[in-house]
Amino acid sequence: QAWPKLRGEIEFKDVSFTYEKGEQVLEHFNLRVESGQTIALVGATGSGKSTIVNLVCRFFEPSSGRILIDGRDYHEYGQACLHGNLGYVLQSPQLFSGSIRDNIRYGRLDATDQEIEEAAKTAMAHEFIVQLPKGYDTPVGEEGGLLSTGQKQLISFARAVLADPALLILDEATSSIDTETELLIQQAIQKVLSHRTSFVIAHRLSTIVDADRILVIDKGRIMEDGTHREL
Ligand code: ATP
Ligand code: MG
Repeated sequence: QAWPKLRGEIEFKDVSFTYEKGEQVLEHFNLRVESGQTIALVGATGSGKSTIVNLVCRFFEPSSGRILIDGRDYHEYGQACLHGNLGYVLQSPQLFSGSIRDNIRYGRLDATDQEIEEAAKTAMAHEFIVQLPKGYDTPVGEEGGLLSTGQKQLISFARAVLADPALLILDEATSSIDTETELLIQQAIQKVLSHRTSFVIAHRLSTIVDADRILVIDKGRIMEDGTHREL
């Protein structure tokens, strides 16, 4: 592994952000997250939850202000380092054309088939995969177009489990998944969240009650910040 392992401490310092086509979403946003904590982001649709985690993933750059990881501006880390330390399951999950196995393996080129299956089992993806005629060798199609959003999220989740990153982002990871699978996933998520910094975005209370901090977001601002018991 060519990159240093980060502790996963995150800080937004006075971050403002405006989409190229759109209004300002964040204005002087400040947030400090200790290493190993689980942060749940809740709030109305359009309040800025995905924007906040997408900035951590560096899919977008702050218009002003800085994002620090382990006390250093995140531009100081190479893409490989950032992505080696970061796992995410996005609201619109991105896969590349290739097999399911390739998509789970992703950056972990050394992973064995057995490790890939173990990760898929932890992520509750194994069952649907083995029901496909070609199993793990099933091509996912252009951008994963042959799979449902829920299935793509499960594969992304398996990828994150395999990568074992210091920082994990789950953006409504269960939104497109049926209730039965969701119950199983809840348990998997709890297991996977421990020992790493995590941002979790979910509408369902069950996913967020165990978070170390719940941030209630409204119009890009933190309106409340505390544990489930406190709020
Ligand atoms: P949801 O609960 O529906 O996922 P959210 O809290 O994740 O909502 P964001 O996706 O962060 O909300 O959106 C915040 C604001 O930014 C909204 O007004 C939205 O319309 C706008 N927005 C989001 N993505 C883009 C984009 N790619 N380009 C322009 N505007 C965007
Ligand atoms: Mg969102």
